[in-house]
Amino acid sequence: MEFRDLKKQYSVVKSQMDAALANAVTEARFISGPQVRSLEERMEKYTGRKHCISCANGTDALVIMLKAWGIGSGDAVFVPDFTFFATGECVSMMGATPIFVDVCKDTFNIDVNSLKEAVTAVKKQGKLSPKAVIPVDLFGLPADYDGIMEIAKEHGLRVLEDAAQGFGGMMNDKKACGFGNAATTSFFPAKPLGCYGDGGAIFTDSDDEAALLRSLCVHGKGAGGKYDNVRIGYNSRLDTLQAAILHVKMDVFDAEVKAVNNVASEYTRLLKDVVKTPIIPAGYYSSWAQYTICLDSEEQRDSLSEYLKEKGIPTMVYYMKTMREQAAFDNVRDMQVVSSPVAEKLCRTVLSLPMHPYLEESEIKAIANAVKEGLLP
Ligand SMILES: *Cc1c(COP(=O)(O)O)cnc(C)c1O
Repeated sequence: MEFRDLKKQYSVVKSQMDAALANAVTEARFISGPQVRSLEERMEKYTGRKHCISCANGTDALVIMLKAWGIGSGDAVFVPDFTFFATGECVSMMGATPIFVDVCKDTFNIDVNSLKEAVTAVKKQGKLSPKAVIPVDLFGLPADYDGIMEIAKEHGLRVLEDAAQGFGGMMNDKKACGFGNAATTSFFPAKPLGCYGDGGAIFTDSDDEAALLRSLCVHGKGAGGKYDNVRIGYNSRLDTLQAAILHVKMDVFDAEVKAVNNVASEYTRLLKDVVKTPIIPAGYYSSWAQYTICLDSEEQRDSLSEYLKEKGIPTMVYYMKTMREQAAFDNVRDMQVVSSPVAEKLCRTVLSLPMHPYLEESEIKAIANAVKEGLLP
């Protein structure tokens, strides 16, 4: 059994995928081929955003957006303490200071009360200027954008939605990548919409910002093209082969998101009485990058994962450490203004089960049964 079965997915789309790959190779326009812009247009329609600017990966997408906003030294950017490293890494990379905020125990997403407390504390200290917040749509579920936007408005913060895990999710019919002032996503193979390598995209509604982002992604190019350089930029592009692959994946994407929602419902039906299963608040729709249960203790979590491994069922711990516990953030630990008891507890108790659109009913049942057996005293 696979944790996320990319081989099975390929077998489902094999003929279309092979044709798309052969076509891209035959055309030999490996960088900035027509598939790239047409994919961006497709994603603009899909997400409801005016502009999609593709780039090399989800981390670059975050970095380049912060660069476009002029975020740098002396600035505070608020980041959930429970997320993948890149959400905080991009802030430090710009020379700004990540301020880690606690998360909600039910949704695993940024806690609006903790955010409010953190912004107020940073302002009161007067050492850093609060500039932005990067809410994460963790495990496929959009964050609480109503609450976040209210705080952002009050304190003049920009909101950058990190939808690396969230593509395909929704809140009240609004699609992920459509929240906040701008959004980013990742096409890393294991994300809800993955390519066959690295890839990413930035979303904004601002024409000026879009033009700046397109320049930053290609060596700070000016009106005269890539040999006319008007600023220091990056070399961050989605290549034509990945765009061709993503076109084929987009054809089946809605069906896949529906399928993972069925898998999640089935897991929850079978497991809700024995373990804490994920909670999707009313009005929200997840794209289920992960299906994550919470155990009572670290010992119980670790022994269950060991038991499942013996049964041939792979599991993962997303995430073992809070952001502030990472050695790379040693230098910003003193600057932290709120504690993260919920994030700390989650790191000790979460366990993600195999999750992908092609998981079969018999596999779901076998996994659920093994979880139940593994939890017997
Ligand atoms: C995967 C991920 C990223 C980074 O994306 P890459 O394409 O791997 O660079 C950023 N944020 C979150 C929350 C992620 O899960």
